Amino acid sequence: MNDQVILERLEQGGALSYGHFVRRKNLHTDIQVHKYMGLHHPRATDDLCAELLQRFEGESFHVVVVRAIVEDIILGYTCGRILGTSTVCVANHEGLVSLIPPTGLTPGARALVVADVLSNKGYLQEIMAAIESRQGVVGGIALLIDEGIEALSSTVRVESLLSLKEHNYPLNSCPMCFQGMPLSGGS
Ligand SMILES: [Zn+2]
Repeated sequence: MNDQVILERLEQGGALSYGHFVRRKNLHTDIQVHKYMGLHHPRATDDLCAELLQRFEGESFHVVVVRAIVEDIILGYTCGRILGTSTVCVANHEGLVSLIPPTGLTPGARALVVADVLSNKGYLQEIMAAIESRQGVVGGIALLIDEGIEALSSTVRVESLLSLKEHNYPLNSCPMCFQGMPLSGGS
């Protein structure tokens, strides 16, 4: 699947809106992503996950690790099924980070972190700390969408199905601002 096909898959699921959005402070974009909308059909999710995992061809993982949020759980369980591994959730309850199930990650296990987007390094650091607290090894990071705001890791391989980096515009070079297009809403 090339970027255009992936975009079409997400569009068909109603996952993409086009307009003029705030991605971050001082950063605008012309694409708004509603991730779950691209995941509500199991077959489409299967296809997207299979494509994402192909980018790690030749690598092996013992476990998939996700955040305990619905989009990531859907992606994580689908990837786990394709890889033939279990899937473990990292939950953060009022600042207390735990694994569900607590015994799901054995020492030395090579983990693939799967997420729809990781919008900042803080989320990733939390997941990596949870894995490393069980003596697991972060072997890769698989993202449905890379928002392209910051480099997430220089030490672990990061693969994404779709990068939105080219759709991010600093305020002083935002083409929609130049056209006087009103903002469509928050990101
Ligand atoms: Zn703008």
